[in-house]
Formats: sequence, C-alpha cells, structure tokens
Amino acid sequence: MIEMTGDATVEQLYRRIRDVPNFPRPGVVFKDITPLLLDAALFRRAIELMAAPFRKFGVSRVISIESRGFLLGAPIALALEAGLVPIRKPGKLPAERGRVEYALEYGTDALEMHRDAVSPADRVLIVDDVLATGGTAEAAAKLVRAHDSAVVGFTFLIELDFLKGRERLRGERLEALLHYT
Ligand code: AMP
Repeated sequence: MIEMTGDATVEQLYRRIRDVPNFPRPGVVFKDITPLLLDAALFRRAIELMAAPFRKFGVSRVISIESRGFLLGAPIALALEAGLVPIRKPGKLPAERGRVEYALEYGTDALEMHRDAVSPADRVLIVDDVLATGGTAEAAAKLVRAHDSAVVGFTFLIELDFLKGRERLRGERLEALLHYT
C-alpha cells in the first residue's frame, strides 16, 4: 500500500518511483529511483526536502552509501554546504580505510570509509535511497562513531516501513520522504 499525503510534490515523487518486481532476486520489489532522476525540477525538490530537516543541525559531513546513496548524497552535501564522504563496499577505496562488518540475511557484508574523511569535530548526516531492514544504515553509523564523530541523523528518499528499519535505528533522528507500508 502506498501512503499518500496532501503534498503535491510528494505525490509527484511517488509517481516517479518505479516498482520492479523480482529484482535483484525473486520476491523483492525493487524501488527504482531512475525515473525521478530524469526529472530535474522534481529531483531538485526531493533533495531540498531531504536536506531541509537537517539545516539547523550544523552538518559538516554527508556520508553517502554505495551506490545509489551517492546520487542523493552529493547534491544534499552541496545543499547543506557540507563535505561529501562515500562509504563503499570493500576494495573500492584507495587510501587508508576503516571497516565495519554487518550481518545480512545470509552471511555478512562490510563497508569501508577513508580514515581521514571524518574527525571528532564533525557532525554527520547519513544518506541513502532506501531504508529497508536498516542494517546498512546501522553499519554506516557504527563506522562513523568508530571515528569518534557524531551522527546527527539519517535521511532517506524511501522507507519500506514494513521491514521495520526504523525500529533498528530507534533513538536516532530519521527522516524519509516516501513511505511504503
Ligand atoms: P537495508 O540494509 O536492509 O536497510 O537495505 C538498504 C540497502 O539496500 C540500501 O542501500 C538500498 O539501496 C538497498 N535496498 C534494499 N531494499 C531495496 C528495495 N526494495 N529497492 C531498492 N533498493 C533496496
């Protein structure tokens, strides 16, 4: 079920998210954001809405999660006049890295970040396209906090409410524009 609000922009955003059933594997409905990226005015609006709740928190670093998180994290960093930090799958970043491992449904995965990307003085906003189970976002926060930086919050374009990622991130400041219940 799609949750609608009275906001015309938000309704337009829902129309620009394409459901792709059984991708990348059977039983998953993939939320494809590429139709939204084609609409420059609406994409800009989405970025403004994702950044707005965090304008007053003095964000100095925007952490974006590979790979679709990069597409949203980069313009959000510009909007907040903050530095942009990519968090990547193992083996992609060239310089000295910190690493966190996290559990998947089957097995484990890991994320890496350059060690010099954040410092204890930083105030970090974590960005991704979709909040599903919350495992990826939780791991990203762990990696940032392992560098003694403060996580001020999380912003997502889409929240899959039925997967209860928000419960996993309880106590965190968390915003999502579009909700699927
Ligand atoms: P999770 O760790 O379960 O919250 O999964 C979040 C990560 O997986 C994000 O980086 C998303 O881009 C991706 N993801 C999970 N579920 C979907 C979905 N249904 N459609 C698109 N991306 C998804």
